[in-house]
Amino acid sequence: MPRYLSMRTVNYFVALEALFVLGAGLLIFYAYWQSSAVIVMKISGEFHPTQAQDYLFYSMFLLLLAFLCIVMIILPMMRRSQDETLNISNLAKSFEKQAVTDVLTDLPNRRFFESAFKAYLKEFNRKDLSFGLLVMDLDHFKRFNDNYGHDVGDEVLRVVGRKLKSITREHDVVARIGGEEFAVITLFATKEQLKAVAERYRIEIDNIKVKIGDDILDPTVSIGVASNEGRQKEIRMMFAEADKKLYEAKRKGRNMVVV
Ligand code: GH3
Ligand code: MG
Ligand code: MG
Repeated sequence: MPRYLSMRTVNYFVALEALFVLGAGLLIFYAYWQSSAVIVMKISGEFHPTQAQDYLFYSMFLLLLAFLCIVMIILPMMRRSQDETLNISNLAKSFEKQAVTDVLTDLPNRRFFESAFKAYLKEFNRKDLSFGLLVMDLDHFKRFNDNYGHDVGDEVLRVVGRKLKSITREHDVVARIGGEEFAVITLFATKEQLKAVAERYRIEIDNIKVKIGDDILDPTVSIGVASNEGRQKEIRMMFAEADKKLYEAKRKGRNMVVV
């Protein structure tokens, strides 16, 4: 059988199937009609041989054909076309995932982050709940590239990405939003709590050591934090606020959190 059968072919077999069943039904009806005629004749004392049994036999034969048609043709066809549909929808899903995933770190990308951020901002402001935005930028990252090459720089980004993923709470969102920039949406956190959360991220990154040959690379990160406190903030305002705090952290010496 061909690997792919169109729904149209399946429909032909279903129609054939319906004809078998209809034929069997008519035969059974005819057999019933004949046999009741025989009973009337028996009562009236005459006896006429009837073909009722033959008709019942033919109808059984048609039903058997219908059954075989379902089991051997229609069901396998439907399963196959279902598999095709599944494959196609899996493909579509993987494309969708690729569109919102950063290839290097496998974290969500900026596009995903921004749409998640918009949705959370709207919902949390509406319900008067607090949440925050952490924007982090690796310190003197260019040095890794310059001293060890771009591949080593990439490896550092991957290690940082894995660490961020592993320490981010289930409902928070972490993403790579630029070259050596990452961001986190921290839900249900007041300004005080945000500071503690950001500090935890900073320490975890500070603890990362990447061994390259005889050298040990020690990436650190500066973090700027913005909170939705005061509500009615727009996505741009929160990003601008976090960016401002981030540059303050850079200016003050890096490896630091500013809220
Ligand atoms: P600062 O502490 O001020 O942030 O210094 P920095 O060196 O981290 O910042 P700068 O903006 O001068 O350099 C960022 C570097 O990150 C430059 C760019 O080549 C590098 N970079 C950006 N994306 C990637 C990437 O995907 N892979 C690698 N290996 N490097 C990247
Ligand atoms: Mg940067
Ligand atoms: Mg940097």
